[in-house]
Formats: sequence, structure tokens, C-alpha cells
Amino acid sequence: MARIVMKFGGTSVANLDRIRAVAAIVRREVDAGHSVAVVVSAMAGETNRLVSLCQEAGEPAPALDARDVEYDAVVASGEQVTSGLLALVMQNLGYRARSWLGWQIPLNTDMAHGKARIADIDGGALGEAIDNGEIAVCAGFQGVAPDKRIATLGRGGSDTSAVALAAAVGAERCDIYTDVDGVYTTDPRLTKQARRIGKISFEEMLEMASLGAKVLQTRSVELAMRYKVPVRVLSSFDPPDAPGPGTLICDEDDIVEENIVTTVTPDFNEASVTILSVPDEPGRAAGIFIALAAANINIDMIVQSPSRNQGFANISFTTKEGDLDQAMKVLSDEQQNIGFKALQSDRNVAKVSVIGLGMRSHAGVAATMFRTLAEKGINIQNISTSEIKISVLINADAAEYAVRALHDAYGLDDLGQAARS
Ligand code: ADP
Ligand code: ASP
Ligand code: MG
Repeated sequence: MARIVMKFGGTSVANLDRIRAVAAIVRREVDAGHSVAVVVSAMAGETNRLVSLCQEAGEPAPALDARDVEYDAVVASGEQVTSGLLALVMQNLGYRARSWLGWQIPLNTDMAHGKARIADIDGGALGEAIDNGEIAVCAGFQGVAPDKRIATLGRGGSDTSAVALAAAVGAERCDIYTDVDGVYTTDPRLTKQARRIGKISFEEMLEMASLGAKVLQTRSVELAMRYKVPVRVLSSFDPPDAPGPGTLICDEDDIVEENIVTTVTPDFNEASVTILSVPDEPGRAAGIFIALAAANINIDMIVQSPSRNQGFANISFTTKEGDLDQAMKVLSDEQQNIGFKALQSDRNVAKVSVIGLGMRSHAGVAATMFRTLAEKGINIQNISTSEIKISVLINADAAEYAVRALHDAYGLDDLGQAARS
């Protein structure tokens, strides 16, 4: 029978009743004869609580230092608890089960404590254990760094643990159980018109994740794409004996219908920075972005426009809200060197993106987006595009309205029960 990996997020293991419901889903697969590794998140809200405790105890420094290592020791504990509890509940049901912590697998990471990347996984012991009929309940989100200390994989990292473990043990599939019954045409919390998508390509899912849809961590989709792990997103709230079809994330060749726009994805976690009156000469933009890169600040949506002052330009870019204060500090420190006049920032912005494989072969997608927003009186501050997405930066107060209008404009409101099969 097949090896499979099943991952359960925070809401799915929020308390002992939920953990018992998860156990019923796991036993369905075990009873069907599969070798099963389970990956669990911390109970809902627990990681936030642990992060707050760390912040109260001492603000982590921007650069890697001893505090980031202790942050990992604290925040990784949430997954240790749920892995032990689910193993206990499975044992009580008469199954052989044990918890596996990151270092016991071992899941090896790099040294970037707090947002580590997986370096390699030795799936040998885990594969052997599950083939011997034991249920392996793995703590998600955590691994072990070269300094032999616990490292965590960034928020939402249990998705990445699950896909990486599936690749490491050669699993037939990786099932991600969460609190929605699949990937939707937009965040189902924003509009009742959102529709479940039957199949979505790795490329579209990667754009969605990196443009702010929380449903999967971006890195997990990258790994699924690289190692060709079929991933399904399913609800842990469906009855264990009647699971819904969920969403399959697969190769684009396996998708028959190619929507022009598959999803509308908002990101409320954005901030914009405008640098006013930068001397319009070679090397000034380089100075700005080299300084930001040195501080590990990711930037996006760069726009340069002429300033009212002859010989000067204004440069705007967006960054994650959490990086804004540091970006402003880095730029202030560089003001003399770069020679700009003033700095402005705005937290009240959101990025709204439309994503779809069909954009490659259809004209007019941007025109529909801009016309729709214009009709609703929504001003566009920045635009960026790739082969399969168009993103606009707008005032955050208008973002939900924009999502609903775009969802309708691209015909997503009118799709049947499942948007694509
Ligand atoms: P888990 O705790 O199981 O990892 P998350 O909260 O990280 O779950 O991700 C699931 C949430 O992602 C859903 O509750 C939903 O609000 C949000 N979400 C955002 N965009 C989408 C989308 N397009 N389709 C489905 N869910 C989405
Ligand atoms: N518990 C971690 C978080 O909340 C990891 C995860 O749930 O994926 O970010
Ligand atoms: Mg998640």
C-alpha cells in the first residue's frame, strides 16, 4: 500500500476534541492499509501566544543573534505538544503511534533561525517506521540547524514540513487538511461568491501563495513543484467517512479547462515607501536597493517617476508591513549618501492580484482589471505584472470591495459549485 503524508493545521488541532476528530481521519487511512506520517501544527493561536511572550521577554534583534535561537526554542514548543497529544490519542485507540520532533527525524535546516530553510531530510528511519505499521506523528514547523539548536521554518511552515517529508519518504501524495474544504477563487472569508477550485496548477498556486493567500506557505508549493509531490487541500471538518474532493494541486498538463483568471488574491500585509527627489543619475537607485538588501528587506513593486524638481526623480516601492520600520531606518541612515530630500510611508495599502494560466494567451486581462477598478472609483497607486498575474496597489480600505468587483468582472461569481475540474 501507499505511503502518504497528512498535515493538520492549527484550527484542526485546536483542542482535544479536534485532535480526536483528526485521529478519526488518520485511522481511516491507516485502516485502508496505508503507511502514514502525520504532520501537525500547534493548536490555533498558540504560536501567536508564544511569539508575544518572546517579544515581551526581549525584542529579537534584526540580525541573527542568540535571541533568534531562543525564539525558535520557544515557538517550536507548540508543535511538540500537539504531536505528543495526537500520538497519545492514537495509542488510546489501539494503534501504534509515536511523536517525532524535527531533530529526531532528522529534518536539517540552514542557520537562518526564525525563518530557516530545509537543507536536507533523512527520511530513512521515518519511512521504515511507517512501513512497519507505526503512525509517525511529526511536529511541523521545526528542524535542527547546523549549530544543533532547534530552528523554525517561518510562519505557516508546517505546510513546508509536510511537503518536504512527503518528498523525503517518496509519498504518493501529501494531504493538507485545514479549515476550508479546498483552495478557493478568492479567500472565502471575504465573499460568499468564492468558489472551490477542483484543480489548480503548481504555478498558479505558487503565485497565489507568494501574493498573500495564506492557505499554503510559498515554500511548500515550491517544494511540491520541484519534487512533483501531488498535494491536496482538504477540510478536517468533513466527516471522516465522507471526505470532500478538496483541491488537487498538480501539473498544468493535468488541467483541461484553462481559466483566464483563476483567482483574485488580496494581501493586506503591505506597506509603501516613497523616496522624494532622488538625484536622477546612475547609481542612486542602486545605492537605495543595495542598502535595503543588506538589511535583508524584501521589496516589490518599484516605480520611478520624474519629480517636479528638474534633475530629480521620486522612487516608490512596497515592502511587508513588518519590515517597514526597519526599511525607513535604513533609508534615513543613508539619506546623506544617496542625497534624496524626503521619505514618506503608508501602511494603509493593500495589493490585489489576479492570477491565471490563461493570461498567457488572452489579451485584455489588464484592461478589464483597470476598467473595473475605475468604474468603482478605486485609484491604482502601483502596478506589477508577470506572465500569469497582474497586481495593483490600492488603498487598503477599498481592497475588499475591489476583490468582490474583480471576482465578478472575471466571471468567477458565475462558476458552478467547483470552479474547475
Ligand atoms: P492552517 O492553520 O490549517 O494552516 P491557515 O489559516 O494557514 O490554515 O490557512 C487557511 C486559511 O487560508 C483559510 O481559513 C482561509 O481564510 C485562508 N485563505 C486565503 N485565501 C484562500 C483561498 N484562495 N482559498 C482558500 N483559503 C484561503
Ligand atoms: N504553528 C506555526 C504557525 O502558526 C506553523 C504552522 O502552523 O504552519 O505559523
Ligand atoms: Mg497555515
